[in-house]
This record gives sequence, structure tokens and C-alpha cells, in this order.
Amino acid sequence: MISFVRAQEIVMECARVLDSEEVALSESLHRILAEDIRSDIDMPPFDKSAMDGYACRRADLDRELAVIEIIQAGTSPTKTVGERQCAKIMTGAMLPEGADCVVMIEYTEEVREGVVRFTGASTRDNICRRSEDIREGDVVLERGERIAPPHVAVLATVGCVRPRVYRKARVGIIATGDELVEPGERPGPSQIRTSNSCQLYAQALDADTLPTYYGIARDTAASLDGALKRAMAENDVVLLSGGVSKGDFDLVPGIMTQNGIEILFDSIAMKPGKPTTFGVSPTVYCFGLPGNPVSTFIQFEILVKPFLYKLMGHDFRPTHSMLPLASRLEPKRVDRETWLPVRITPDGRVEPGAYHGSAHINALCEADGLIVLPVGAGVFEEGTLVRVRPLQ
Ligand code: AMP
Ligand code: MG
Repeated sequence: MISFVRAQEIVMECARVLDSEEVALSESLHRILAEDIRSDIDMPPFDKSAMDGYACRRADLDRELAVIEIIQAGTSPTKTVGERQCAKIMTGAMLPEGADCVVMIEYTEEVREGVVRFTGASTRDNICRRSEDIREGDVVLERGERIAPPHVAVLATVGCVRPRVYRKARVGIIATGDELVEPGERPGPSQIRTSNSCQLYAQALDADTLPTYYGIARDTAASLDGALKRAMAENDVVLLSGGVSKGDFDLVPGIMTQNGIEILFDSIAMKPGKPTTFGVSPTVYCFGLPGNPVSTFIQFEILVKPFLYKLMGHDFRPTHSMLPLASRLEPKRVDRETWLPVRITPDGRVEPGAYHGSAHINALCEADGLIVLPVGAGVFEEGTLVRVRPLQ
């Protein structure tokens, strides 16, 4: 049995970044950049007005100003603003020569036709200077960035319409267990519906990968072997759930080995998820996740997800926060490092909530984060600061 930190190291050390492809900008959301993006232009590309108003000389602010032209966004000024002159200018339009500030239209009045006056006490320049945001040639986005809507805007601005991104990891998902039926069926006596398959599929989608579901493998060598072979042939990563504990029908590790997967660990000193198994073959990475749904969920979240992102060239590091406990926490015997789902109250306190253990299927619906109790942890008084690992 190894520590969770060691398990994480092993998994991350194995991850080799996948190849890359170009995608249309409109398809780039949540993809991961495989190249640094440089700007082909300055931004702004010219000194531009930040306001609708009048471009003039600051020295003339207390004078009446003759309006010499109207400058619309998308047109270039044709005149130089001289003494006691101004140009009416729209937001985003090019600043005319001679002007050193723009007064907001709201702080002006028309004295008579074609003549305006500044009515404010003082004004900012209201000018966005050429290249103050981006210089031509600057790296505006770095390789490894996960593309979010603001990144799409930057890509558009610099004309990168086909960004190069890492290929999505293909993830094959197999449920195992003789007691399982598909969610569309009514379980017979002694059966349950598979929830892990759907949960893992959803988690894999959420982690920006391409999941494929291979159905329920029965607890027989033949059934497991068939499903694993199919999944191995078509994926970068295979996730199995169940069949990795110490029961008579927990055949998954043996079938992994039989298929050329070298097992690098088969248990982690933590709760939940002790029997979590990981192995590699020349072509796939394979996780044997525990059957209990909370274990599967948590192991995917803390172990598999950062790994999948590493395959796709992204350093996934959720921001932890230190928050006070909303109530006293008195854990039962903590003989293994324990990860607990918690809720974060609207005022930012941590509430452990009802949690009956790793089979408690609905315990995670309310959870906003996870906290870790070290071995031997005793009582935590209300208000104690705990480190919370967020769940989206
Ligand atoms: P196992 O590790 O196969 O012994 O499974 C541990 C527990 O998780 C058992 O109670 C299983 O019925 C349950 N379980 C296994 N696979 C799933 C699944 N796909 N969905 C929901 N529960 C499961
Ligand atoms: Mg089983």
C-alpha cells in the first residue's frame, strides 16, 4: 500500500502528452493550447477614444471649442485638432492629431451650433494608447492554457482562427459486476443499477475528454477480458469500476495483467478508494477504480482527472482554500487518511453534512469540496480552519 501522494506521483510520471491538431476557433472552447500564441498586431492598433465625446487639447478645457469634424469608429480623422478646436468622436474611433484628451459627452454642452464647452471640473484623458494592452509579437496565450471564453476573445483578436490544441484523450469506461443492470432497467432482487458508468462518463466529459462506454462486464474472466480488449483497442485510457477488492469475484487486476498491463500499484492508504489500481501497457493507461460510487467519484476527481489533463498538456491544479468549520467535527477512528465530502455554506464555512461512507450515492450531490483528515485525527472544534479542495 502506498500513500496517495506517491500514487499521484506514479500516475503523473507515466503521463505522456498526446499529439496535437488544429481546430476551428468556434470549436476551441475547453481545448488545451499546444502552442504559444503571438499577436500579429498591437492592441489597441492606434490611439483610440475610450468614450463618446469630444477630442481636444487639455489646455483648452476652459474655452469654447469649435467642432471641426465627426469621427466615427472605423473611420480615420481627416483634420488636426488645433487651438480652441475639437472633434466629436465615438468610442473606439481613432484619436485625431493634436488632441490629448477626450471629454465625455455627458460633461459638455452645446453653446451654439458647432461650438461646445466642457462643463466638468476635470477629466481623465479617456484615451486607450496604441499597444498598451498587447504589442505585436507578444505571446498572448501560452501552451497548456485551457481555452475559456476570454481566451477565445484573445485568439480572435490576434487572428488565430485555427488554434493548435492537444488531441482529446479517448477514455473507455467499463462497469463490472454480476449485480449490475443498466439504468433503464428495473433491478431484480439482489441487483442494482450501474451508476458508476454514467458518473464516470459524465466526469470524463467534464474533464474535456472523449469517453466511450463499453457496458457492464460480468465477473467472469471471459466477459472482463472481452470488454477490456475492446476498450484497450480504441482508447488512450481505460477506466474500470469494481472488481478490484479482495472478494472471490474481484478479477480485474488479473485480467489487466493478462492483457499486458503492468500494474504499478494496487492499493492506496486512504479512504475512500483503498483498492484503486493503476497500470500501463505500451498503448494504454488503465485504472481499476473501486466499485463504490463515492470512491469512484473521488478517485477520478483527485487521481484520474489531473492525469487526463496532463495527457492533454494541461497542468490541472484546483485552487484550495482554508475555510472555518461551521460545526464541531468528531470523526470516528481515522486509521487511514480520509477524504470527506463537504458543503460550503453561503457565508464560506465548511459543513461536513451527512456521509455514511463510500456507498452513500447521494452524499456528493450537495458537496462543494473535499477535506482531508490525517491518520489519528481527533476532534476539530467549530471555527477550525480546514483546507478545502474544491469540486466544480
Ligand atoms: P466491488 O469492488 O466490485 O466489490 O464493488 C463494491 C461495491 O460497489 C459493491 O457494493 C458494488 O455493488 C458496488 N458497485 C460496483 N460497481 C458499481 C457500479 N457500476 N455502479 C454502482 N455501484 C457499483
Ligand atoms: Mg464487483
